[in-house]
Parts: sequence; C-alpha cells; structure tokens
Amino acid sequence: MRVAIVGAGIVGATVAYVLSEFVDVVVYEAAPGPPVMTAGAMTSGRSLTIASATGAALGLLMGAVSTREKGRNLEMRLAGIDWYDRVIPTLQADGPILYNQQGLLLLQFEQERRGRWEQLGRIRQAQGRRLEYWEGDRIAEVFPEVCLEAVVGAVYSPGDRQVDAAALTRALIQTSQRRGVRFEFGWEVGDLDVVEADVVVVCAGVGSVGLVDVEMRSVLGQAVKVRLPKALGTPEFQPVLSGHDIHLVPLGNNEYWLGATVEFDNESAMPPEPEAERFETMMAEIMALVPSLQDAEVLMRWHGWRPRPQGRPAPVIEWWSDRVILASGHYRNGVLLAPATALRVQEMLGLGSA
Ligand SMILES: Cc1cc2nc3c(=O)[nH]c(=O)nc-3n(C[C@H](O)[C@H](O)[C@H](O)COP(=O)(O)OP(=O)(O)OC[C@H]3O[C@@H](n4cnc5c(N)ncnc54)[C@H](O)[C@@H]3O)c2cc1C
Repeated sequence: MRVAIVGAGIVGATVAYVLSEFVDVVVYEAAPGPPVMTAGAMTSGRSLTIASATGAALGLLMGAVSTREKGRNLEMRLAGIDWYDRVIPTLQADGPILYNQQGLLLLQFEQERRGRWEQLGRIRQAQGRRLEYWEGDRIAEVFPEVCLEAVVGAVYSPGDRQVDAAALTRALIQTSQRRGVRFEFGWEVGDLDVVEADVVVVCAGVGSVGLVDVEMRSVLGQAVKVRLPKALGTPEFQPVLSGHDIHLVPLGNNEYWLGATVEFDNESAMPPEPEAERFETMMAEIMALVPSLQDAEVLMRWHGWRPRPQGRPAPVIEWWSDRVILASGHYRNGVLLAPATALRVQEMLGLGSA
C-alpha cells in the first residue's frame, strides 16, 4: 500500500512516523522545510507571523488536568502523553528536544471549585493518574513570586507535560526519513485527485479547507518569549505555571514562553489579525499574578492560528472518500492529540494493532 500525507506539521509528521513501520509513505508539505520556532529572533516589538500552527505552539500536554472525567477525548489525551513518554527519549538520542516532565501547576481563583477538583482527583486516581490540590502556603513555598491576593489554591498535575513542538516535529521527520519516508518540501497539493497513492491522509491543518469540503475556522493565538533577571521558583522544580488560561513555560536560562491569547471571529472564515489590546490584557493578567514579570526582557513575539472545526468537536479523523482520510482540526491540542490521531489512522488502514 502507498500512502500520501498532505502536511508535515505535528499531525502529519506523527502519522508518517507511525505508518512508516508498515507501508510506503510520501509526505507533501507546502513550506520549504520542517516547522521552526524562530527561537531567539529579535522582532523589535513586532509580532512575527508563523504560518504552521505547530511552529507557533507552546506544546502543553494537558491530560489529567483536563476537566473531562472520561470519554474519547480524554483517552486520546492520556494516550498522547504515554506515547511521548515512550518515544521522545528515543528521538532525543539524535539531538535535544525540550520535554518538561515536571507537570503543570494550575492556579485557582474560586473556592467553590475545590470540591470539583478533589472529586476529579479521585477519578484520576482510579484511572491510575494523579492530581493534587494545593493550599496557598504550598504555592508560596514553591513559587514565592506568585501574588496570592486573588489565588485560593492550585491544582498540581504531575503527569502532564510540555514539549517543544517544532523540535519534536523535526525529530519525527528525521527519523521517518531514515525509515524510508520521502518528504517533498515546497510542494503545495492543489488537487487530491492527482496525488498518486492508494490512500491520501490530509493533515494540512487550516489548509485542509482548500482540499476537502470541511468547514474550519482559524483561531489566533499571540505569545511571547521573555527573559527574567532570575528564574521563578526553585531550580529543581520547574513545572509549567498556569493561571487564567495563560501559561508560563520554563525554557531554562531564566527564559519563558508566555501565552497564548484565543482570538476568533465566528462570522468570518477569514483568519483574524492579532489585536494589540488582547495581547496587552493577557500581559496585564499574568503580571498581576507574577509581578516580577514586569522586569522581563521581551525576546520575541509571535502569533499563529489554531485549526478549529466549525460546528463539530475537534479533531476530525474520518474517511472523507474511499481513498481520503481527513485527520485535521486539532484546535488547541494538536500536539497532545497527534499520537492518538496517528494510531487511529493506522487502525483505519487495518495496519497492525494500534
Ligand atoms: C499560539 C498557539 C499555541 C498553541 N499551544 C498548544 C499547546 O500548548 N498544546 C497543544 O497541544 N497544541 C497547541 N496549539 C495547537 C497546535 O499548534 C495545533 O493544534 C497543531 O499544531 C495542529 O497541527 P497540524 O499538523 O494539524 O497543523 P499545522 O501545524 O498547521 O500543519 C499543517 C501543515 O500542512 C501544510 N499544508 C497546508 N496546506 C497544504 C497543501 N495544500 N499542500 C501541502 N501542504 C499543506 C502547512 O504548510 C503546514 O505545515 C497551539 C497553537 C497556537 C497557534
């Protein structure tokens, strides 16, 4: 069987990696090369546009901390983390990939929600996962920089992760190439009918709308990379710190990614442009929580678009015709859901046991 994949973001690269064990695979990617997070690029206050969602992602893998108690989406999330725990160490043999396994600390602002988190903690325990509820004094011990004025506690999820999605995608591509997968960069597919393959898997993110008749919206996210005079917390414990849906991702060397906004226009299919006001509001909210961020030096600002299916849950993984599978529309969790997506495609093709 010959399989063609359209798109080499995290989803296409993971599908290629998984299928490479079973069949001949060729990947067509419109961009001239694999996604790059333009780390360290100074943009003198301007926001850099990153076309591939993967290149813009913060790479949070929010599994146990998801509020879903059960179901397909939760299973896909947890399967993604388990897969990365197994596969990333093998990919790291080729070069460094930032993979934070110290979990995620989610600040809480409403006392009434504590009971629900504790209940979810019991559910997670039965599922073989862990969630802890922390009081303010525990937060102060670990992150003395956090302003506890509005904070009533925190949920600590030790099993959740964060990864540099662009570096991970490049590593998946490199290993797949070694296994015989052909990547055609700078090759924009315009018509699926002329793609020579038994099966075509469309993993083109927001670009999928130009190839199949699916409705999708581009949801913009703005983010920033900063350097602080001093790292937050203690050197031995550096989880992702989140509050008000804003994430502070430790990168080492006192550097952090911070983001992201969620901006969309439901009325229009056109990708929205970044709004300066949304960015400023995000910064003000996170600085109120971590005042020392006021001393941060901005190293880079960027924005990208998340592919969100319109009127149906994300992601879409289904046969679109007798030779086309659509595996796209992963919205805010494409990095997390890529492994389960690839295993699902493997199963749909009847290859091995996923
Ligand atoms: C600011 C921001 C923060 C995010 N944070 C997280 C996070 O913390 N955790 C998480 O899990 N997810 C996060 N996401 C979401 C995540 O980035 C996406 O869900 C995921 O990257 C989607 O991957 P993809 O491979 O489907 O799409 P993409 O990465 O967009 O890849 C699609 C590829 O297809 C190519 N393509 C398109 N059309 C064609 C064509 N016709 N022919 C050939 N190639 C084509 C494109 O060039 C592109 O490289 C974030 C997104 C943004 C924007």
